[in-house]
Amino acid sequence: MHASRSPQTRAVILVLLGLLAGWLPGCSSSGAQPAANSRQQPAGGANPITIDSTEEQIRQAVGTARLGRKLTPKTWPNGARVAVCISFDVDNELLQRANPLPVALSVGEYGATTSLPRILELLDRHQVPATFFIPAMGTMLHPEMVPAIVARGRHEIGVHGWIHEFWPGIGDAAKEQKLLTQSIDYLTKASGKRPVGVRAPSSGFSPQTFDLIRKAGFLYDSSLLAADEPYEIASHGQPSGVIELPISEVDNDYVYYGETANGALPSPDAVFAIYKAEFDLAFQERTMFVLTQHPHVGGRRSRIVQLDRLISYIKSKGDVWFATMEQVANYVKQGGA
Ligand SMILES: [Zn+2]
Repeated sequence: MHASRSPQTRAVILVLLGLLAGWLPGCSSSGAQPAANSRQQPAGGANPITIDSTEEQIRQAVGTARLGRKLTPKTWPNGARVAVCISFDVDNELLQRANPLPVALSVGEYGATTSLPRILELLDRHQVPATFFIPAMGTMLHPEMVPAIVARGRHEIGVHGWIHEFWPGIGDAAKEQKLLTQSIDYLTKASGKRPVGVRAPSSGFSPQTFDLIRKAGFLYDSSLLAADEPYEIASHGQPSGVIELPISEVDNDYVYYGETANGALPSPDAVFAIYKAEFDLAFQERTMFVLTQHPHVGGRRSRIVQLDRLISYIKSKGDVWFATMEQVANYVKQGGA
């Protein structure tokens, strides 16, 4: 059958595979996360919107965590036009937790053994800060990572689950809360500072997740995608006090490269061009640019060269505030004072 496929058929299949890869949220793995597509599948007790839903039911269904007040200040510190946050989801081998076989694990292991030191050296050379979201058990597997990050004195560490579990798949609010608490405690002990930010593994919010984040006292979340600028999360029409520093899958390495080179656009040059265009409009609109990288993906040689180039380009523009997400959240919370 394979031999009889026409070039056109093969091209269609390749395009479809690319589209499938593109549908998956960043830092997910189709092999490891059967319920990864959180925006397509009902999960974790979410009530589906149906043709019989009332207006109130539809309002309730979408109301858990929405865009409230936009929080971009009139000016960023030192008169900068744009805030730039470089963030890393340090997933490493935990994306393979459902099927932990040696070769697949080694792809993630590379993120700790090779990419992270390379990334830290790059950030040192540019003297810019970054935010690292790390699953607690990732720090257990690679205990050298957190001290190496903390030693720089510029970076931030945020929560990214216990084993990179998909929260809507837990289906039990008490268990979800326990995992969140464990994760906070583990990172606090490992880093010497209680994390103030959280990014949901695989962009997965259960219907309970937002309440748990708020009750845990987080300053900010960085999992939602409702704007290109900071905002306060509104929950069922009420301001929550929790700041969102939204991500964008366009500014994510995973969707282009996949775990190895099987993403939708495995060309570092082309990916650089997209990131540059994204930054340029953020600069023009005077808002915020959040880049999301995964060490085991974007830390590969040809790709980190483009990250180096991107940081150089951003620095060349001047009037840019490189900051941790914690610094940005604190700044906008104080009204940009
Ligand atoms: Zn992740």
